[in-house]
Amino acid sequence: MASIVPPARIGFIGLGRMGHPMARNLARAGYRIVAHDLDRDALGRACDATGAEAPGELKAAAERCEAVITMLPDGKAVRAVVLGPSGPGDSLLAGFSRGGVLIDMSSSSPVGTRELGARLAERGVAMLDAPVSGGVRKAADATLSIMVGGDAQTVARCRALLGAMGKQIFIAGPLGSGHAMKALNNYVSAAGLVAAVEGVLAAQRFGLDPENVVDILNASTGMNNSTLNKFHQFILSRTFDSGFSLDLMVKDLGTALEVARSTGSPAPLAQACLEAWTEAQAVLGPGTDHTAVARYWEKLAGTELGAKIGVDPSHKPEMT
Ligand code: NAD
Repeated sequence: MASIVPPARIGFIGLGRMGHPMARNLARAGYRIVAHDLDRDALGRACDATGAEAPGELKAAAERCEAVITMLPDGKAVRAVVLGPSGPGDSLLAGFSRGGVLIDMSSSSPVGTRELGARLAERGVAMLDAPVSGGVRKAADATLSIMVGGDAQTVARCRALLGAMGKQIFIAGPLGSGHAMKALNNYVSAAGLVAAVEGVLAAQRFGLDPENVVDILNASTGMNNSTLNKFHQFILSRTFDSGFSLDLMVKDLGTALEVARSTGSPAPLAQACLEAWTEAQAVLGPGTDHTAVARYWEKLAGTELGAKIGVDPSHKPEMT
């Protein structure tokens, strides 16, 4: 089948923090956008930014598009828009014709993705999972890394489309592989973030300057994506506004553990990580940015990062 190139019509479902800039880049590349979101304000902003049509019905979006992209909170929301929340009704499936393509770019569970792909295949609709990494900043400048699961023919058909949103496109494997990869990536990222928070807090309580500690880590082997791109920017600055929520990170950690368990892989660190992040979510409340997980560690330590330079007077470091 022919490659999906501009000015093809693309359905875009979910125009939140990530979906909005991704749809804008598709429009900039010359694709025509058909948008849908439960949040009327988000939908209105996306229509203004992309010139999208908004038919108001999922069925109508699938009917008039060569491919439909979902960028929703999780796989449950994806299934609700594809199959309908409770049996037949308004859904993408009601509008897809044979040869249609669903590209789920959300961070969904790979197990649910394989089930959904099988349901779509029965109706002659192809599916790719193509979750992304790089956050709002890379979504805005179309430099996301995209990890794709699916058959080679569908990937080839959608390559130009994905290339309008991302810089590096990795073929992870068959359907579900992209979602498994994304969840495991976020586990490694979440573990790296809290390992760094723990380390910087201990260093500060030992009398070191946290800004200096992060600079030293960044020039040393302890450096990771969080020390490089999150610490000065969102944590020590105390803006906590990276654009990726703590709720979504907890969801991803649950998915990573599901992948590990389904393969019988030992994952004691992922388990501990999920427990700690879930506890942080309960303490910090909904709507918190994921970088604010540092505030949970601060509560445990009784020390605010960057609040004092020098030895915490309540704590006497022991030299052994
Ligand atoms: P978001 O909450 O900002 O956006 C989600 C959008 O989906 C919202 O506009 C919401 O109204 C809409 N929505 C929810 N349920 C819907 C439904 N049933 N029908 C139609 N619209 C619906 O979330 P986000 O940060 O843009 O994340 C989207 C996905 O991308 C998630 O799976 C997330 O894990 C993943 N992701 C996010 C980031 C990031 O930095 N924010 C980075 C990589 C991956």
